[in-house]
Amino acid sequence: MIIDGKKIALELREKLKKKIMELKSFSNSVPALTVILVGEDPASKIYVKNKEKFSKEIGINSEVIKYPANVGEKVVLDKIKELNKNKKISGILVQLPLPKHIDKRKVIETILPSKDVDGFHPINVGNLSSGYESNIPCTPLGCYLLLKKAEKNLSGKHAVVIGRSNLNGKPMTQLLLKENCTVTVTHSKTKDLKKECNRADIIIAAVGSPKLVKGDWVKKGVIVIDVGINKTDSGIVGDVDFDEVSKVAKAITPVPGGVGPMTIACLLNNTIECFKRANS
Ligand code: NAP
Repeated sequence: MIIDGKKIALELREKLKKKIMELKSFSNSVPALTVILVGEDPASKIYVKNKEKFSKEIGINSEVIKYPANVGEKVVLDKIKELNKNKKISGILVQLPLPKHIDKRKVIETILPSKDVDGFHPINVGNLSSGYESNIPCTPLGCYLLLKKAEKNLSGKHAVVIGRSNLNGKPMTQLLLKENCTVTVTHSKTKDLKKECNRADIIIAAVGSPKLVKGDWVKKGVIVIDVGINKTDSGIVGDVDFDEVSKVAKAITPVPGGVGPMTIACLLNNTIECFKRANS
């Protein structure tokens, strides 16, 4: 089974579009997302453009605030504080990476946790790891939804997460624990990654290393979610050798067309959840 992230993301966006129409009929208002973009990073510009496009498509009011790369940190922090106070804004996202002179941690911690659609604020991180309601980082949330499409009951399964970043590996680990998986978290200092992967019922690869996971690293029937996006001479590839692993796996996400499309759909989902909580 190839887990079609494009199709599943489209279905999710359709569902969210309907939800917004319902919310509008109740409250006469719709969720609003403000994205702050600092500088001219080409990849960030594309991500922000897509976030705006898909937000508008489903009926979210979307605004992008752009600053030049040399903008002062205080200007950005003051704008976030202003947006925090604005009742019309449901979600705030500051596109990363930021220029070096701007403290990423300060920026993340200035966003009101209830408007932190990326789920990066320590309060949201803490709530997620304590099993409480929280904003969940968009990419791991997307991985989780794809995984559930492949296997409804994850309880007792052995999941191996490759990578321990705050963005992917760590929140993914929390989501798997919540589903009663037994989780092994691996990273660059892991002694025998192949051996760890060979024991896995589920593999989440979030590394940034092209085709790292090979066919003989996995056992038959494994479910593989590939988060990696790696530019190579032969195009974009994941962290998993798709041709080899798909012959052995029960289910696998392709790259592109797997996790990628889910990330933005989950951002839209988080924006709606923030709106709902603020209006409940
Ligand atoms: P990151 O912050 O660079 O973290 C990479 C993790 O992989 C680290 O924990 C690192 O270990 C570990 N690692 C590196 N080499 C390894 C190896 N040989 N064996 C085992 N572990 C290894 O990356 P990230 O932000 O999590 O992103 C990971 C990948 O996902 C990238 O390709 C990125 O482009 C992609 N991504 C995709 C989406 C999407 O929407 N699909 C969204 C975000 C990111 P240490 O902690 O020991 O350094």
